[in-house]
Amino acid sequence: MSDDQQRLRRALADTRFTTFWLDSLEPVADEAALERDTVCDLLVVGGGFCGLWGAIQAKEQDPARDVVLIESKSVANGASGRPAAIMSTSVMHGIDNTERIFPADVAELERLGRENMDGFRATLERYGMDCDDEWGGEMKVSIGDAGLAEVDEDYALYLKYGHDAVRLDRAGVQAEIRSPIFHGGVWSRQRSGTSHPGKLVRELRRVALELGVRVYENTPHLGNRKTGAGIVVDTPRARITARKVLLATNAYAAGHRHIRRRVAAIRDRIVVTEPLGAAQMDAVGWRHRQGIYDTRTQLNYMRLTPDNRILFGGRLGYFFGDDTDPALDRTPQPYLRLVQSFYCTFPQLADEIRFSHAWSGPIGLTTRMAVHYQHYHGGDMVFAGGYSGFGVTASRFGARVGLALLDRLDTPETRMDFARTLPNYIPPEPFRWLGATITMYALDTLDEKGGWRKPWIALVQKMGFPITL
Ligand SMILES: Cc1cc2nc3c(=O)[nH]c(=O)nc-3n(C[C@H](O)[C@H](O)[C@H](O)COP(=O)(O)OP(=O)(O)OC[C@H]3O[C@@H](n4cnc5c(N)ncnc54)[C@H](O)[C@@H]3O)c2cc1C
Repeated sequence: MSDDQQRLRRALADTRFTTFWLDSLEPVADEAALERDTVCDLLVVGGGFCGLWGAIQAKEQDPARDVVLIESKSVANGASGRPAAIMSTSVMHGIDNTERIFPADVAELERLGRENMDGFRATLERYGMDCDDEWGGEMKVSIGDAGLAEVDEDYALYLKYGHDAVRLDRAGVQAEIRSPIFHGGVWSRQRSGTSHPGKLVRELRRVALELGVRVYENTPHLGNRKTGAGIVVDTPRARITARKVLLATNAYAAGHRHIRRRVAAIRDRIVVTEPLGAAQMDAVGWRHRQGIYDTRTQLNYMRLTPDNRILFGGRLGYFFGDDTDPALDRTPQPYLRLVQSFYCTFPQLADEIRFSHAWSGPIGLTTRMAVHYQHYHGGDMVFAGGYSGFGVTASRFGARVGLALLDRLDTPETRMDFARTLPNYIPPEPFRWLGATITMYALDTLDEKGGWRKPWIALVQKMGFPITL
């Protein structure tokens, strides 16, 4: 093993391979599992952000509506207990992605994003929800000069659509955050920031219960069928008969075998340092505590936690059969390159910092990288998901539109393309695994080796995936 490899492994020697967010909280008791057959107006399947926001908004819209939420394990078992939780105004995975997928609707989708973020913050206030939210904005930084054009494009879009954004040159970025590889950036300062997703998801569960949602944990959906009485959903010990069903199972794609045709369960990985001391914080700067992502092909994102650890993420993986809990991700191996990227980004910390936590989570990836809706049982069961890497606040919006579709409401949102059309098919196994494996290898080695990699990536782009080179 080389010296460099040994150094990377040492940094991960005492690491806990579990999400920092849930590990940093006192454990709470699960809600009881469903034991008896029951009937309800709306059944929500999945206890992540999307399901909880769906249940809460359904109750707020009509307190008389009987709402049940079932979760296969504990709430926050999926992506919602594991994100970086950089909160973006965008409901379509960033302003650049919005321009890519719905160029004619950017202005309206940006307006809806602002409205969603205001609604999100108003909800936190209304129910006194404590989730360590900080509103320092979101920033995209260019790695070297190669990403400056992308930063300029984002800046132009931010200005065009009314954001409070500033374009930072190299010195400007260094005044915000000290990294020798950041050569410029764009900082959107309003309505975005970071939160503690573990606290947020628990607070959403509390509010859902207070509003009268019946929450059953350790109650997996096993199957469903339409009957004259409604949609009958089987769980291990009891049946639920619901008038409508919102499937909020995102990367797990539970609820219908066809969901997988458009949703792949990609792993995204994160490492978190020990808390930084005062001198280390001085060496990094970061006084506005922005959520940051960069322009690398395999992008990295980073933020400070409330106790001043650096969270550093962005190493994708795929496991055969859309595995949502691979054992390999509970070992140091898949995190070594992420630590290497961290050292390259913050060389001033390289000799002294160790990593307390490392984990991965399943992202529901689609070719659009944003929420879409699949309709089953004549529209009485709707899947809302596919948020890819941006769902902490977008899921509130995604769930709201999902409810409107279930209620067959004719609203400006339900008339828009994002709500009426579908992302492209993604090939089934074994082609899915083969394609993902080749693509990730190509991305990892593209800069050093070139060769067949560019035409391959061009092919993947043709399928609809937004890979930037
Ligand atoms: C590593 C990582 C970093 C991320 N960083 C960010 C970020 O910085 N900013 C951001 O906005 N987003 C980020 N995201 C994305 C964000 O976390 C997700 O988009 C969001 O949490 C999706 O919420 P969800 O409720 O749709 O899905 P999930 O949270 O995955 O919830 C789905 C739930 O369904 C349950 N379920 C599955 N099968 C069944 C069944 N049969 N019956 C009942 N329940 C079932 C699962 O247990 C799970 O709890 C990140 C994600 C990951 C993994």
